[in-house]
Amino acid sequence: MVDKIKNFLFDLKIWRSLKVRLFVIIFLIGLIPGIVVRAGIMQSYEDRAVAVRQSDVQNQLKIIANHLITYNYLPNPSSEVINAEIEQLANLYSGRVMIINGNLKVIKDTYGISEGKTIISSEVIKCMKGTGSARYDDNNGYIEITTPIVETVSEQMATETIPAGKELIRGVMLTSVSTDIITATMDALNRKALIITIIIIISLLALAILLANVLIRPFDRITNAIGEVKEGYTTDPISVPDYLETEHIVDAFNSLQSRMKILDDSRQEFVANVSHELKTPMTSVKVLADSLIAQQDAPAELYREFMVDIADEIERENKIINDLLALVKLDKAAAELNITGVNMNELTEIILKRLRPIARKNDVELLLVSTREIIAEVDEVKMSLILTNLIENAIKYNKKHGKVTVTLDADHQYFTIEVSDTGIGIPEDSMTRIYERFYRVDKSHSREIGGTGLGLAITRNAVLLHRGTIKVESKEGEGTTFLVKIPLTYLAV
Ligand code: ADP
Repeated sequence: MVDKIKNFLFDLKIWRSLKVRLFVIIFLIGLIPGIVVRAGIMQSYEDRAVAVRQSDVQNQLKIIANHLITYNYLPNPSSEVINAEIEQLANLYSGRVMIINGNLKVIKDTYGISEGKTIISSEVIKCMKGTGSARYDDNNGYIEITTPIVETVSEQMATETIPAGKELIRGVMLTSVSTDIITATMDALNRKALIITIIIIISLLALAILLANVLIRPFDRITNAIGEVKEGYTTDPISVPDYLETEHIVDAFNSLQSRMKILDDSRQEFVANVSHELKTPMTSVKVLADSLIAQQDAPAELYREFMVDIADEIERENKIINDLLALVKLDKAAAELNITGVNMNELTEIILKRLRPIARKNDVELLLVSTREIIAEVDEVKMSLILTNLIENAIKYNKKHGKVTVTLDADHQYFTIEVSDTGIGIPEDSMTRIYERFYRVDKSHSREIGGTGLGLAITRNAVLLHRGTIKVESKEGEGTTFLVKIPLTYLAV
């Protein structure tokens, strides 16, 4: 049950609040020293007060002890003067004084109850041997003091065995004095200290609440600022420079926000491009169909001719959609890579064989140069995409009687595919843009030869998924060379 309550208290959400923790820390930092100081002061007051009282009494007792010898009280304890002196001391300190002679017999007791009795206590016996003692009993509130009654041997008393000047212990004074007055003062002090403590606790509570609120305010400001961005009221970068920590959080948020903005912009641009690209073949189909409908008695050949055009446009639409689907698949990340050991020479030959009819149609010669056998850990389907797109482009953007050379090579770490053509080349200012989706150097030419502007975007994504690089060199009118470099062994992140 106790454990359950403990767990419940520890699990409380409130402890995870920085504000509550700050409050507790500030409060305890204020309170604990206060309590310790208070206890320390009370204790040292008590020690000091007891010591002062003890030394007062001991001084008085020494004087009386001397008088006891002077008045020869021990053998004859009837001296009025001494008795009055002893009674006065006992009254003054609300205590009890007992005079014990050398035979450990009580010859005077201010309480009058122990006279004639023998006292054998360790303190008294020690005192008989010359060591007086003082003991404070704080539970019962008194100090017990033993004082030896010492007689110094005079010239007249001196014998051979007892020389003059020797101190003889004739008896013991056993005194207990009350410390009620100290206890009463301490009680009064304690009461005052309690009131002061309560005032300090209330002030500390107020101060801790105030400080915790003030210290936590910048974090509230961050939450509000992020809330405004979330609601869409603003897209401006937020700024809370109060602490280094808040600045770091806000910086991280701002860079996340600007990255999301870039992603959002590129998504919007992509959607606009896709819609535009998909609309173009549809518009052509509509124009062709409308013109057929408009002609009342169109001859069968015209129908046929238009239908062939319509089929071409539909084919084009299909190609765009297929390319888009390939691109979306590649965007889905490396988790979908199907890595196997692929013989790159065989794969390239298969692709070249597939593309040879197009090359022949364009009057372009295809050449494969491979110096060694390359087995690489790659995704075969994505590798085919890379090779097909690069070689197909090299054929498409070539000249009559042109040439495409595919060169395969490898070192101990990487393999390279170089696709080089003798074609039209890429203008300098387009070089950085060719990997963008839907980017084409010459839109109408690319359209004529069936390009979608997605081929290189797909190729680059596929290369990056294999942790490779793609580079291009080109000279307008002379030709283009693409160089792809991919690790032989796949390095998962
Ligand atoms: P497309 O489907 O239009 O070929 P790509 O993304 O494959 O789209 O290529 C983008 C553009 O880069 C092409 O439109 C073309 O202008 C240019 N390009 C690509 N490869 C070559 C090349 N080998 N020679 C000349 N230009 C090229």
